[in-house]
Amino acid sequence: MANPLLGQELLPQFLQIRAEHIEPAVRELLDSSRARLGELAGIAKPTFANVVEPLEELQHRVSRTWSPVSHLNAVLNSDALRAGYNACLPLLSAYHTDLAQSEPLFHAYRTIAEREGSALAPVQRQVIEHAVRDFRLAGVGLPAERKAEFKTAMLELSQLQAKFEENVLDATNGWSWHVTEVGELRGLNDMLIEQARRRAAGQQVSGWTLALDQPTYVAVVTDAESPALRRAFYEAWSTRASDQGPNAGRWDNSAVMEDILRRRHAAAGLLGFRNYAEYALATRMAHSVEEVTGFLHELAGAARAAARKEFAELEDFAGRRLPAWDVGFYAERLQRERYAVSQEELRPYFPLPRVLSGLFEVAQRLFGVRISEAHGAPVWHEDVRFFTITGAGGNPIGSFYLDAYARPHKRSGAWMDECVGRKHLSSGAALPVAYLVCNFLPPGNERPALLTHDDVVTLFHEFGHGLHHLLTRVDYPSIAGINGVAWDAVELPSQFMENYAWHPEVLQRIGGHFISGAPLPADQQARLISTRSFHAGLATMRQLEFALFDFRLHAEYSPQAGGRVLQILREVRSEVAVVPVPEWNRFPNSFGHVFAGGYAAGYYSYKWAEVLAADAFAAFEESGVFDRGTAHRFLDTILSRGGSRDALEAFVEFRGRRPDVRALLKQHGILSSGELAA
Ligand SMILES: [Zn+2]
Repeated sequence: MANPLLGQELLPQFLQIRAEHIEPAVRELLDSSRARLGELAGIAKPTFANVVEPLEELQHRVSRTWSPVSHLNAVLNSDALRAGYNACLPLLSAYHTDLAQSEPLFHAYRTIAEREGSALAPVQRQVIEHAVRDFRLAGVGLPAERKAEFKTAMLELSQLQAKFEENVLDATNGWSWHVTEVGELRGLNDMLIEQARRRAAGQQVSGWTLALDQPTYVAVVTDAESPALRRAFYEAWSTRASDQGPNAGRWDNSAVMEDILRRRHAAAGLLGFRNYAEYALATRMAHSVEEVTGFLHELAGAARAAARKEFAELEDFAGRRLPAWDVGFYAERLQRERYAVSQEELRPYFPLPRVLSGLFEVAQRLFGVRISEAHGAPVWHEDVRFFTITGAGGNPIGSFYLDAYARPHKRSGAWMDECVGRKHLSSGAALPVAYLVCNFLPPGNERPALLTHDDVVTLFHEFGHGLHHLLTRVDYPSIAGINGVAWDAVELPSQFMENYAWHPEVLQRIGGHFISGAPLPADQQARLISTRSFHAGLATMRQLEFALFDFRLHAEYSPQAGGRVLQILREVRSEVAVVPVPEWNRFPNSFGHVFAGGYAAGYYSYKWAEVLAADAFAAFEESGVFDRGTAHRFLDTILSRGGSRDALEAFVEFRGRRPDVRALLKQHGILSSGELAA
């Protein structure tokens, strides 16, 4: 039987894909791709048509084949899948490095730029410029020995990063909490308690078993009335994969982190950068280490006083000093008292089907696209749904999967990923396909999935990434959708979309009681909206703690002193932490964004892009949040352009000026309108 991973169907054949297909498919794909690379590198008179286009096609094929594998590894993890996935990581890394380090292809691109440059369209020139930049960043032009060292460092990094993530997943799965008295679960919602009872029954024990998945963790530290339960969960969660906590030393990532930092620093050094942060900035919207740290300190300076005031008020409210594991609990209570809204009480008003149709309507009103569910597409789990997007004239634009619910062996968090990228090449065309993945509480027997408003915001966020990928008009895969977009600008569309999850008109549309259909009461809605700036100072300082920690870690690494992970963490905390954190907290050990993902020396991007998003949304507020003209300008200048133009230029074209940090401070309620005018 043919290997289902190698088919050229429009969508991956999820029903047929088995772990044993992975390695043979990847080997075959990479062999044929290498052969093709060899042919292309040998072309005597390289042109855009005979070298660049075929390379774009190759890139499309490789990511199209690998995408379902890495996706399944994340959402349906098993030993067999993990083994197949891991066996391919070094193969893929070696292939990408060979391609990225190809001297003949590098010279071919430069020749094409010289000979054809002026005759090419701007988007084609951008494809070449990106490629030439990336060749340099991959070590092209280095002496053979250094090039080999670079290649080794990259290969080891991809394995170490996978190991980091495995440790976190195992540590998360490797801890649970069993109670025999239901009173110990007081404060938790019925759905969670029911789930815990079923889990215990499944393990043939009496009582209730709580797992350490993200929704359970968040629910416990926010709602559980038992301080002992909150502390146990906080400790287990914040010491995952470390030398501390209930599973101390098991799945410990400490050495893995040190190895990752050492290799990143070495790789950057081989390319002539002083550190990994400088290397990372070579492809970012921000251009220097000072620009980033200056930006983070500016925000910290603006938010510190607000954060301290918020925490002092919270301790006043609690009537005592608060340890870290009690902060969420009292914050929730203070918020409830002040605004009389709670995330749990909002759930009945946000049934997923209604939220989805309201979200799709927002996309339709803004961008004129229509989204509808399509049945019959092969999916990896029965809960997964599939949707198509069409333009105003009914023309197909793309499609996406939604995998909404938490379940065992699915990575926690929420994300959007590329399933198929858009291409329009002489060798063929493809429409973009996306995965939207969330970890919401599943539906019950007689009720739909009910979301908290936090969940709603998450869904809008990921959908914003989805729109960036799906509404692209760029024909070349390397710079279409989210590809080739500067990392610090990539969160602009997602954070921009979050604004709609807070807008009164949208809340009216998506909020309706799942049984009675009654709308979210107006006063409750008004109070919910006013919660948006609740503890914005504390939240900002917490994000700045992560961002400064990550950035300094990569900017200050030295081979003599090593990563100094805990020392830098302490220094950053003494500068920006407002809530005291216990010495044994080891959040870096499960900080996947930075150690396993693409946010290394890039966590600041969240705040950076948040400023872009707040400032872009301010343009909508000035002209009406559903103003079609503004929406189309946003689509034309930013959303549809992928990596085909400089992120700052695109922003300036849309806004008529550079981004202004005050838009975000105003959105957070940290800066009043009076101060804004000053
Ligand atoms: Zn995001």
